[in-house]
Amino acid sequence: MAANIQIEGNPAFARIPPWVKAKLRPIAIEKIQQVHDWIEHEVVPAERIYKAQLKEARWTTPAIVTELRKKAKAQGLFNLFLPNHFEESPGLTNLEYSCCAEIMGRVYWGAQTLNCHAPETGNIELLAKYCTPEQKKKWLHPLMNGDFSSAYSMTEPDRASSDATQVGIKMEITDKEVIINGRKLYGNCKYNEEMQIFILMGCSDPDNKNPWNRHTTLVVPANTPGLKQVRNLSIMGYDWAPEGHGEYLYEDVRVPRENIILGPGRAFEIAQGRLGPGRIHHCMRLIGQAERAYELALVRCYEPRKKPRGKFIGEFDSNIERIAEMRMTIDAMRLVVLNAADTMDLQGNKAGRYAIAQSKIMVPNALLKVIDEAMQIYGGQGLTQHTPLPEIWTYARFVRVADGPDSAHRHQVGRDQMKTAQGFRERAEKYTARYKELCKKWNLEPEEFIGIV
Ligand SMILES: Cc1cc2nc3c(=O)[nH]c(=O)nc-3n(C[C@H](O)[C@H](O)[C@H](O)COP(=O)(O)OP(=O)(O)OC[C@H]3O[C@@H](n4cnc5c(N)ncnc54)[C@H](O)[C@@H]3O)c2cc1C
Repeated sequence: MAANIQIEGNPAFARIPPWVKAKLRPIAIEKIQQVHDWIEHEVVPAERIYKAQLKEARWTTPAIVTELRKKAKAQGLFNLFLPNHFEESPGLTNLEYSCCAEIMGRVYWGAQTLNCHAPETGNIELLAKYCTPEQKKKWLHPLMNGDFSSAYSMTEPDRASSDATQVGIKMEITDKEVIINGRKLYGNCKYNEEMQIFILMGCSDPDNKNPWNRHTTLVVPANTPGLKQVRNLSIMGYDWAPEGHGEYLYEDVRVPRENIILGPGRAFEIAQGRLGPGRIHHCMRLIGQAERAYELALVRCYEPRKKPRGKFIGEFDSNIERIAEMRMTIDAMRLVVLNAADTMDLQGNKAGRYAIAQSKIMVPNALLKVIDEAMQIYGGQGLTQHTPLPEIWTYARFVRVADGPDSAHRHQVGRDQMKTAQGFRERAEKYTARYKELCKKWNLEPEEFIGIV
């Protein structure tokens, strides 16, 4: 099929930069086209059906999503996010998947129809990386098959969870079982019956001298006695049904010891492994959301029923410039995300740490401004349910915090940069030494205070 797909002039590839197009393999060209057609024909037109069905049953996955998921799986469109170095992968690289993810992102729940939504993507990658074959059978395969969904549970209400060494929920490990007590914030709602497992990080060995060996990650079935959802957490006023975000109480929750992933005290090895592509999937999809906001702004620019002072909104110079800024910002942010994906492909997740942080810091912040301007161009309606703009803005806002706050990433990037200072000081000293040699050659007295060293 890919051999027949013309890339140039094809809307599915319109926003993909030339250097990325040059790297796309036939399988990727085929999948990008399929995802594009899927989102354009099956998902965007169904947005209002989704809303109507959700109104009827707030914590049940809308029937349209269930039907689309079945159809997408049959078309081989499930789990495209899982990079091609996993044996379970459908075969795309992170870079190729980024192109698909942006298109999925055009509708918030679009990725869910393709089993590429959060936290599933991070959880599936974690389970694929660290589970035993038996554990994979129990949790990984059903998740990849879309039989049920999962939650990731690390954050706590009374700990600074951006510093994961502080995670404090108690895990007492015996020969046969693990007994869990404490509170958790976030993790999808178990009000939705499809959500059947939590991947939970807790503290199993608080007195271990090495703070990196104190924690354990394990799977908790959602129906385990003692696990109570206290409430749904609204995010900036939205309940984000039908998945939502829960607050949880664990009271003597007992799970079999074999639910531990990798082994007791090894949660940080797992957390390190989770610092890969799952961290920027939100950013990839946010580019698609921003494109949507941008297009709505353009639609509004030439709305004949709305002509202040007799002119189209798009005829005002300030809006022409605004549109230019929005366009350039989205394109720049796409480059940041694609670079992170490519770096992970070429050098691995660890070496991609800087590029991942760069995405996490820059993309939501820059796109918040783009979406804000789209709302401004739209006027009053842009802040209402007449457009998806308020939800898109809220999504961008929460990406600044979800998967670790941008401040923590900035702190890490800054600390790493500070380590490079000594090298630059030595370089500056060499410039000064050479300058002194040149002064001698040209018979000049070296000026004082030239350079800083
Ligand atoms: C919509 C949404 C969905 C989420 N989903 C999940 C989920 O599924 N599972 C889950 O476990 N968690 C989830 N989270 C929680 C999120 O991962 C945490 O809120 C985040 O990691 C920060 O932890 P904290 O809230 O404990 O804040 P803290 O760690 O207390 O940090 C608070 C603030 O302190 C500042 N700060 C922290 N570290 C630094 C630093 N190094 N330098 C400078 N300033 C710093 C920042 O401003 C930061 O925002 C979600 C959050 C949101 C908003």
